[in-house]
Amino acid sequence: MKLKEGCDCEKCRECCTREPGWFVPQEISIAATALGLSDKEYVATYCQEHEIDGVTALSPKQKPRSTACVFFEKGKCTIHNVKPYECRKVYGCEADRRHRRTRELVTRYWK
Ligand code: SF4
Ligand code: SF4
Repeated sequence: MKLKEGCDCEKCRECCTREPGWFVPQEISIAATALGLSDKEYVATYCQEHEIDGVTALSPKQKPRSTACVFFEKGKCTIHNVKPYECRKVYGCEADRRHRRTRELVTRYWK
C-alpha cells in the first residue's frame, strides 16, 4: 500500500494512543533509514519486542507511563510514510477498502 505524501486522517490514528501496530521484518531497515539511523540504533531507541509463537516481533515502543506510540506527536504519526504494516493495513484507506469488499461479499449472501 502506497501512502499519500502528507495525508493525515483521523481514521489512521486509531491505534496510536492505544497499541502501536507491529512491523514486518523488512520494514525495520526502511524506517531506520528514514530516520537516519542504523537498524540496530533504530531498534534499540524506538522498538519494543513481542514474543509470539516462538518468534520475536517488533513494534514501536510506547511512551513512558502511557499506551501511546513513541511516534505519535501532536495528534500525528511522525513516521506516516514508513509506519508499520499493521498500522497501514488495519487502519486508514486500506481498512476502508477491505471493509467495503467484506460488505459486498455479505450483501451477496442476501441475494
Ligand atoms: S507508527 Fe504511527 S500509525 Fe503506527 S501507532 Fe505509531 S504513531 Fe500510530
Ligand atoms: S486514511 Fe488514507 S489518506 Fe487518510 S491518512 Fe490514512 S493513509 Fe492517508
